[in-house]
Amino acid sequence: MKKIVFYSIAVISFCIGSKLSVNAQSTTPSIVLSKEEQKIIQYIDANMPRAIALLKESADINSGTLNIAGVRKVGAIFAREFEKAKFKTKWIPMPDSLRRAGHLVASTGFNNAAIDPNKKNKIKETAKINKGKKLFLIGHLDTVFEPDMPANPFTMLNDSTATGQGVTDMKGGDVVMIIALQALQEQGLLKDANIIAYLTGDEEHAGNPIEVSRGDFIETAKQTEIALAFEGANGLNSVATARRGASSWLLNVKAKTGHSSGVFTPYAGYGAIYEAARIINEFRVQLSTEKYLTFNPGVFIGGSEMNYDETKATGTAIGKTNIISPAVVVTGDLRFLTEEQKLNARKKMQTIVNESLIGTKSTIQFEDGIPSMAPTEGNDKVLEVIIKVTKDMGVGPTVAGDPGSRGAGDISYIAAYVDCIDGLGSSGKGAHAPGEIIHLNELPYLIKRAALTIYRLTR
Ligand SMILES: [Zn+2]
Repeated sequence: MKKIVFYSIAVISFCIGSKLSVNAQSTTPSIVLSKEEQKIIQYIDANMPRAIALLKESADINSGTLNIAGVRKVGAIFAREFEKAKFKTKWIPMPDSLRRAGHLVASTGFNNAAIDPNKKNKIKETAKINKGKKLFLIGHLDTVFEPDMPANPFTMLNDSTATGQGVTDMKGGDVVMIIALQALQEQGLLKDANIIAYLTGDEEHAGNPIEVSRGDFIETAKQTEIALAFEGANGLNSVATARRGASSWLLNVKAKTGHSSGVFTPYAGYGAIYEAARIINEFRVQLSTEKYLTFNPGVFIGGSEMNYDETKATGTAIGKTNIISPAVVVTGDLRFLTEEQKLNARKKMQTIVNESLIGTKSTIQFEDGIPSMAPTEGNDKVLEVIIKVTKDMGVGPTVAGDPGSRGAGDISYIAAYVDCIDGLGSSGKGAHAPGEIIHLNELPYLIKRAALTIYRLTR
């Protein structure tokens, strides 16, 4: 492809109406984009009012994870927009027992066979003919804001900032993905592309069991090569090449009970509360300085009689100061960057648990939650493409963000199968809190970054 150099158009185009924190002209003197890429940029600039209207339309529908009708409504709006980009759409329903809305899947290329598990061979044949990488784009339709929480209609706070439910987590990200695809479609640049966009309806509170709520998501992703997720962007020049995983643990301590005057003696022992305190403190002493590893006890209950209800994360305890406590329950989380780090931490925690004080006996159970998206060479290769895109756009290189700054996300479920990048969505502040905002002045830049990245990966 013939690369041409031009100076003024793109510099102006992504600064229009904005106070970008990146000064394009000072970063590099020239902008190197192909003719097709310039057209993509121009389309996005011309369609920004439509992008913001779509954001407002989707944010003004409450789609709390448990609001099934609301999530489906948002799904219908985005399906309409994918269809404008000539994508085929379908709805993946969830069994009633999960109490979740389901997921929106939109695809182009693959002859739409990609989302039909019975036609796997056909997919392979089709993909061979087509050029470029097979992409899996990830968004979500739900937000943390349920209908019984205070409403926050889409409102402009000033000329470049808006608030609304899920504006940046992640209806803004969905809009970035959709407008980028429409820009490519409009220039006829998706003809040979194989792209599946998967917008889950329960990212904020995934339905149980995960095998059901994420089964189709995982199987569909396996038919692709690179996953791009549109969760919130951490600044203009950063994407996520890794995300930590989350899991949980439950510590059960049993001990001899008796009169408190005998505590610390060989016959009465130390009681469950001292033993649980030893274990938790030892976790901190031995493991708290390991990079990217965190664990937090969330509930700690002990006494002479105690009850813990795991499903409701609630409990009661009765005790007297002159009785040695016979029972304690502690629950906590465990966040990690790699599977290896998780397993090593569990091993050390198990060893600490086994070193029981006299008169006590403890067990710890570990439960997997969301896997991690570990940093890989493959992810770095995709990052290189994005670095080139942002350099060519004249805004300097993109860097890999700190994995410790992000929680777990949908992309983590498939990180073991495809190369992954997250954080390609919109930029804002206050996700998961009332008054969440989106920086609209950065939105055109982020849509262009996404569009050019998808364009180059599918060549
Ligand atoms: Zn999100």
